[in-house]
Amino acid sequence: MTKSALITGVTGQDGSYLAEFLLGKGYTVYGLRRRTSTPNFENIEHVKDQIEWIDGDLTDLSSLITAVQQAQPDEVYNLAAQSFVATSWPQPIATSQITAVGVVNMLEAVRIVKPDARFYQASSSEMFGKVLETPQTETTPFWPRSPYGVAKTYGHWITVNYRESFDMFACAGILFNHESPRRGMEFVTRKVTDAAARIKLGLQSELRMGNLDAKRDWGFAGDYVKAMWLMLQSDEPDDYVISTGETHTVEELVDIAFQYVGLNWRDYVVTDSKFVRPAEVDLLLGDCTKAKEKLGWELEVGFRELVEMMVESDLDHYGSHQKVRTIYRETS
Ligand code: NDP
Repeated sequence: MTKSALITGVTGQDGSYLAEFLLGKGYTVYGLRRRTSTPNFENIEHVKDQIEWIDGDLTDLSSLITAVQQAQPDEVYNLAAQSFVATSWPQPIATSQITAVGVVNMLEAVRIVKPDARFYQASSSEMFGKVLETPQTETTPFWPRSPYGVAKTYGHWITVNYRESFDMFACAGILFNHESPRRGMEFVTRKVTDAAARIKLGLQSELRMGNLDAKRDWGFAGDYVKAMWLMLQSDEPDDYVISTGETHTVEELVDIAFQYVGLNWRDYVVTDSKFVRPAEVDLLLGDCTKAKEKLGWELEVGFRELVEMMVESDLDHYGSHQKVRTIYRETS
């Protein structure tokens, strides 16, 4: 029998990869979309017509109850969030309402309407924040360092609590940073790959950056959505760290992106205190042994390949891919 899934945040990076993946497995996919004044289907345009759309907002419980009633999903993937850490300082209340209270709203909708649906919560490595242990595992204590991290920590524990209180099949994936050509433009990876492409094409002259020493564990979003699905196919609900087990500095990211277009980043990158976080997370490095052993999850795309894929896509985006590749070959 065909399975059905309800995805919140389906217009975002992960939602679009997950929708593609589930459609490929024959699922009926319901996508929750909130009202925006300008349509933003860029990530999902290619599969938009295969998705059953439901209007709703994570801050509006009644709309979520209606969404679950309409979809009658076997699986619910709660990916919607105010997901940009930097925005969580100037907008801490909106971040809490969407990223923290939004989770309990979604859990309540499932508990009331379809308590046997399997539930996935998008938890985050930003919950670890201050480095208390390296590498970080499912048992590392949380010390979030941003309103976003604090909100995600609430979302995480309320998911665990609904599993324990109501015997719901609720899992939280503690996902480390994952990127792709569909990453929002404000995130550091995309900001860098986009700038490398634009500088190469003469559309931009410099790249202003914050802390180049911050270390992150960056993987490919397409690999990470498979882990979400595997969690919900498991015999028992549980929480899993999903990561690459490698950490790289922002400087390494910049270096690879500029190397790909044949430029030296030192000629273009300017550090600007405006982009430094009020409280920094210095080092993220995840240990995903549990996911590998219990879910059989495997990573396919490495760090360099990921950065190059993103630069390539940004070059394509500006329409001069062939031209730049030719210049690169001639100069390298
Ligand atoms: P995106 O920012 O790309 O997508 C967020 C999605 O949430 C968008 O579809 C957005 O809709 C939707 N959304 C925001 N607010 C609401 C709301 N009030 N009601 C309904 N929908 C809303 O995030 P990603 O795809 O990168 O991440 C997916 C999830 O995983 C997020 O929860 C994120 O915090 C978490 N996460 C991400 C990591 C990463 O590295 N990418 C790491 C760890 C966790 P709209 O298009 O209308 O803005």
